[in-house]
Amino acid sequence: MDAAIQTAEGSPLVSVEAVDHFYRKGSAPNVVVLQDVNLTLGDHEVVALLGRSGSGKSTLLRIISGLMPASKGLVEINGQAVNGPAKGVAMVFQSFALFPWLTVLQNVELGLEAQGMAPAERRKRALAAVDLIGLDGFESAYPKEISGGMQQRVGLARALVVQPQILLMDEPFSALDVLTAETLRTDLLDLWCEGRMPIRAILMVTHNIEEAVLMCDRILVFSSNPGRVIAEVKVELPRPRNRQDPEFRALVDDIYGRMTSKVAGTLAQSKDGLFPGMGIGMILPRVSTNTLAGLIESLAGHPFDGRADLPLLAERAHMEADELFQAAETLQLMRFAELAEGDLKLTVDGQRFADLGIDDRKAMFRHHLVTFVPLAAHIKLVLDERPSHKAPLLRFRDELEDHMSEDAAETTIRNVINWARYGEVFAYNEASGLISLENPA
Ligand code: ADP
Ligand code: MG
Repeated sequence: MDAAIQTAEGSPLVSVEAVDHFYRKGSAPNVVVLQDVNLTLGDHEVVALLGRSGSGKSTLLRIISGLMPASKGLVEINGQAVNGPAKGVAMVFQSFALFPWLTVLQNVELGLEAQGMAPAERRKRALAAVDLIGLDGFESAYPKEISGGMQQRVGLARALVVQPQILLMDEPFSALDVLTAETLRTDLLDLWCEGRMPIRAILMVTHNIEEAVLMCDRILVFSSNPGRVIAEVKVELPRPRNRQDPEFRALVDDIYGRMTSKVAGTLAQSKDGLFPGMGIGMILPRVSTNTLAGLIESLAGHPFDGRADLPLLAERAHMEADELFQAAETLQLMRFAELAEGDLKLTVDGQRFADLGIDDRKAMFRHHLVTFVPLAAHIKLVLDERPSHKAPLLRFRDELEDHMSEDAAETTIRNVINWARYGEVFAYNEASGLISLENPA
């Protein structure tokens, strides 16, 4: 296997060495997104970069493709240091990134136009790519006239038409519905296994563990805050792979464990949980109180009785891994549950919550929220101190922006408001832009 990672010249197709990346954030400290990232991509390999959302996967792909320089470290393609858009590399985006005013064929041809190819040759190649990827008959359609699955096929054809050596894919299936995604995965794997795509290797980013096990030869498990490769898992199951196969399940389980293990996030992790940032600067994930309560109920009930294996729980609760992690970690932050070795376990309070009626649940949630979520406590304190018991949302959002990006600040403040509304601590009025105490004494 290792021999295959080397190309004829002895260097891997892609090599990433000691890459760091940070985004500058006004006067606030730089946000470190990638730290000491090392990886290689060899000939004939399909490799997954598996990490949670916000862990820096897209940032890393942008750096590898040369769309953006790393803050530190070295990226080489075929032994050549990347400096600007890398030759022989094509990218497929999660959002498809098609031009709405161009037809399917024109979208595919676009990459060739940039190469200065003659129109007749361009057309011939684009038609061949369209054909290969199963878009026959849709050449003159516009993106908005075709389904998401078809749009992503256009994204693939546009990447393949330039005959890249390396295909980078950034969560290419995650915007599609379940069935469409699976069809496209299977089609792509068939093309790859039959050697019909003019490429030498694929590096794909995903947050979906099963997708990584289904498609890839190697999985690089990526940690968050900062992002770095913390484990490498080889998948040696024969293709086509069967999701129900016990070996497949065992691998998925193993990776779940690695992604939730303490190692996955020990670096720069706040002592209260796995979320980035400290105190009121902690970035809170988008999780509804319905999801939280539902998860506590699933855990408390049959067949888990308070402790569940995460993959099983995900299946039962119909949640994606990423969604489950965020909800599980929120429960951990609020001391309703604890994560340990790929299991989620209710605390005594979590058990009690499950047994309570609606009003008692709200009261308990309120207590845990203001005790364990520093931002909730902070907002409550500010509101308590004001005679009007009101304060503009902007006041808190600006404060958060000293600690995190604008997007993260917006998500964080919205979430804490949703949680506080459920716990009847404070509420937000969209029209006035004011947060106010729910039940001022
Ligand atoms: P992923 O693809 O794993 O979800 P990203 O690479 O998109 O992660 O983002 C990693 C982190 O960097 C996130 O916290 C995100 O908010 C931040 N980030 C991404 N792009 C920018 C940018 N252009 N400026 C500032 N912060 C950014
Ligand atoms: Mg991304």
